[in-house]
Amino acid sequence: MVDDHEAPQRSRLATRTVHNVSVGAPAERPAAPPIYQTSTFAFADADDFTAALAGPDDGFAYSRLGNPTTAALERSCADLEDGAGALAFASGMAAVSTTLMAVAAGGHVVAQRDCYGGTYHLLDRVLPRLGISTQLVDGDDLAAVDAALAGDASVLYVETIANPTMRVADLPALAGLAHRHGARLIVDNTVASPILCRPLAHGADIVVHSATKYLGGHSDVVGGLAVFADDETQRAAWELLIDLGGCADPLASWLVLRGLRTLELRLQRHSANAGALADFLSARPEVTRVYWPGLDGHPSAEVAARVLDGPSGFLSFDLAGGREAGRRAVESVRLAAQAPSLGGPETLVSHPASTTHRQLDDAALAAAGIGQGMIRVSAGLEHPDDLMADFAGALDAAADS
Ligand SMILES: *Cc1c(COP(=O)(O)O)cnc(C)c1O
Repeated sequence: MVDDHEAPQRSRLATRTVHNVSVGAPAERPAAPPIYQTSTFAFADADDFTAALAGPDDGFAYSRLGNPTTAALERSCADLEDGAGALAFASGMAAVSTTLMAVAAGGHVVAQRDCYGGTYHLLDRVLPRLGISTQLVDGDDLAAVDAALAGDASVLYVETIANPTMRVADLPALAGLAHRHGARLIVDNTVASPILCRPLAHGADIVVHSATKYLGGHSDVVGGLAVFADDETQRAAWELLIDLGGCADPLASWLVLRGLRTLELRLQRHSANAGALADFLSARPEVTRVYWPGLDGHPSAEVAARVLDGPSGFLSFDLAGGREAGRRAVESVRLAAQAPSLGGPETLVSHPASTTHRQLDDAALAAAGIGQGMIRVSAGLEHPDDLMADFAGALDAAADS
């Protein structure tokens, strides 16, 4: 019942993902946002032209600076993450790198060690060459984070759910530490998505996403997003975005917008399928450990209960047979595909020790929390019984050969 005396309730996330798409008000009143596939915009008046160049919200002049389809995506994401504004990028890495450079120029970045591979390389190799010093710490060790931040840090960088261990960051505690040291907290929220976590509400200053994953959700687009708690920081990042040039293409923005409209429904199925697989794998004798924040006994179960609204569709597990068994298992799935990435409709598996992390020796693998027989799984949208049958067949094949 609606109480006349209360302020109108804001719609729930599932409703907002469906309805918060707006691209101005084209005369034809399309239900879906149009794709403004144009590089430039024409003006009758030179003053109007100049005004449109002024800022991220001042109109459209040239699509590297802004585009109506991309602006619609930015508004949708700012709404879902409860931010003041957002910027869309050509990829998740463009969002991560541009945002870090905008807020950490000449400063010091403290980041969790087990972050996404591209981000790790950016922090470890690229930013130091550009005059931004970086320090990688165990994000679970709040005392270590505190000590690192005391070294005059300007940014603390973490991921909501880190892979492959699916450790969940204690965002309220980390935001408190960052702010006490005058640093800003940037959170990569790719694996949780705004459906499962809104980091700004836990004190973060900036949220970044690889829109390639759950936001797009169909394995058909590469994109990135950054959402800002304040307009000033959005403005600073926009100024760098237009000079570095990692802007989103209108068609890519449109594909992510289309994905967003089913985000809540998809996350429910991804999470349910991951849960079915986690239970199934936990009961198999050749599986020594399953990593998924929804399982009792996961090291982050308590943090997950406070920070997440659900456990997500990404999980990993260790096979007792080590490197050979892991490799054979990912080569033996029939329905799932062996591929990098996550968040698409199809289930994906990978064996880091023989693919993405093959350069690491045993000690380095162990330090990264990656077992020899570890397999990462992005649970898709298939029927859970078909998925469990596929994994049962692959584990049998790995044990037989
Ligand atoms: C994929 C990914 C990225 C990089 O995104 P791209 O769209 O591939 O550039 C960054 N962070 C996380 C957690 C990711 O999974």
